[in-house]
Amino acid sequence: MRLAGFLGAFGIALALQQGVAQAADDRVAVHQVINPVQAQKTVKGSADFFTGDVWVTMNFLGDKAVDYSAGTVTFAPGARSAWHIHPKGQLLLVTAGTGWTQEEGGAVQEVHAGDVIWCPPGVKHWHGATPTTSMTHISITSAYEGKVVEWLEKVSEAQYHR
Ligand code: MN
Repeated sequence: MRLAGFLGAFGIALALQQGVAQAADDRVAVHQVINPVQAQKTVKGSADFFTGDVWVTMNFLGDKAVDYSAGTVTFAPGARSAWHIHPKGQLLLVTAGTGWTQEEGGAVQEVHAGDVIWCPPGVKHWHGATPTTSMTHISITSAYEGKVVEWLEKVSEAQYHR
């Protein structure tokens, strides 16, 4: 019994060791990638897709290993995206300020720094600042057949101020 118990424990220890060795081998093939802050260009959000002053910094683009991209978007007071749809959905991490978001047919909802918003695939929506406060969010978006967003019409003043 003692011997069997010992061998059993040894077997588990060996399996754990092999697991560690396997993980170490996986790590050898993959290195960390740093995208320096200086390389992350900030551009003004296009007037075709945004109303008001919006700045977009692409933090990283997807590749074979990471099938999502991330950008930091800052909306000045009164600024907002156009209506749009994400084919594979989108996560928004609000990092500063207070903003508004709305899905079609729903109420405008206020969001604050620290809030995390999941927008499911295919849901028409917009997000932006309130009329009196700025809002910054990090958006994390996966692509479907190379497309992360389908842009639709602008959010009118009447819709925004509803
Ligand atoms: Mn969105």
